[in-house]
Amino acid sequence: MEDNVIVIHFGELWLKGRNRHVFVSTLFKNIENAINGQEYGRLNRERDRFVIYLNAESKINNITDSLRYIPGISYFSPAKMIKADINEILAEGAAILSNAKNPIKIVVHRSYKNHKFTSWDIVHAFITSKKTNPHIDKNSKKILYINVAKDNAFLYTKKMEGAGGLPVGASGKAVILLSGGIDSPVASFLAMKRGIEPIYLHFYAFQDYKKVAESKIPRIANKLLKYSNTAKVYYAPAHLFQIATMKIPIKYELVLFKRFMYKYAEAVAKKEDAKAIVTGESVGQVASQTIDNMQATQHGIKTLILRPLTGMDKIEIIRKAEELDTFKLSIEAYRDVCSIKIKNPKTKADSKSIDKFYRSCRLSEVLQKTMKMSFVETLKINEGMKRN
Ligand code: ATP
Ligand code: MG
Repeated sequence: MEDNVIVIHFGELWLKGRNRHVFVSTLFKNIENAINGQEYGRLNRERDRFVIYLNAESKINNITDSLRYIPGISYFSPAKMIKADINEILAEGAAILSNAKNPIKIVVHRSYKNHKFTSWDIVHAFITSKKTNPHIDKNSKKILYINVAKDNAFLYTKKMEGAGGLPVGASGKAVILLSGGIDSPVASFLAMKRGIEPIYLHFYAFQDYKKVAESKIPRIANKLLKYSNTAKVYYAPAHLFQIATMKIPIKYELVLFKRFMYKYAEAVAKKEDAKAIVTGESVGQVASQTIDNMQATQHGIKTLILRPLTGMDKIEIIRKAEELDTFKLSIEAYRDVCSIKIKNPKTKADSKSIDKFYRSCRLSEVLQKTMKMSFVETLKINEGMKRN
């Protein structure tokens, strides 16, 4: 009676036609990494599902806890796997039904159609058996799923929701601008959910780089690790930029800093073979995030910039941050790149002025120097972090 497998169904993967095998193998690898170190027999691909074979040492709850966060999974179920034989199905079903508190509805699906029996034959067998009939109620919300494949049948009553979306890595890599705020962790999650492998880039205001390594930023990145299993984090100091731009009108500083961050992100994208830059901006959320400013900021940047939060209200973003459990970290006090957080930034910056300041402050050279002072860390789930 005890569950001996976990059946995993993929979601949107089936929409992907020709690329399907890439998505399926990426998801397979991601699941393997996520449950690495846990006790199980093996992970198998079986037609339109993956099956984790459990063993006596397996802790089902720990495994399902990891599976919940993996993009690309639509749902999964701890299940009893038996032979695809109608008598065995009836016997196992009877055992499950007699243990249930209330009558249950039965839903049968055959993913292999060449058996001698139909789905209806199975339902009929359950309805006409004296043993099972009293435990069946076709109006019940609780369901016993009977999934019949070629060799095996899977019986389960719990359908656990997966993260949906596409497996991380299937859409390539992107450089994600990660701040200490509420928005960018949510943007990171949404990007990962669409198959993006994250390379985080954070600009810090501390004199001493050790301070950022001990700050909440690596903790935020770690919090997001359950979606991607692994992530690189670039830490770049902001002070050279601040010194170089001391003389420009303060109103322009934020827009100029964003241009500088994009330029840096573009260089990282090139190095890491990443295809896009992701930010936590949403249109009109604050004075600095007007369409005009976004345009002026990204002028001259060739890499695609994605803003997954574009259409979200702050309240929706906060709700999502709470759900992701990043909110508490995001509101912890943190010394962000502060002089740049002025109250009244220019709301209609023009790209010509930004280009001009970029040149007059010699920001290309500043960028090179900043890159030399940066450090990278690789995070791996279940392994802690490695610095270089
Ligand atoms: P967030 O809550 O994500 O910090 P915000 O509402 O504070 O966003 P801004 O400060 O304008 O808005 O930042 C917009 C985006 O720019 C951020 O979501 C992030 O992607 C990027 N960003 C801001 N500050 C930094 C930083 N110090 N390092 C890296 N990226 C940053
Ligand atoms: Mg911010």
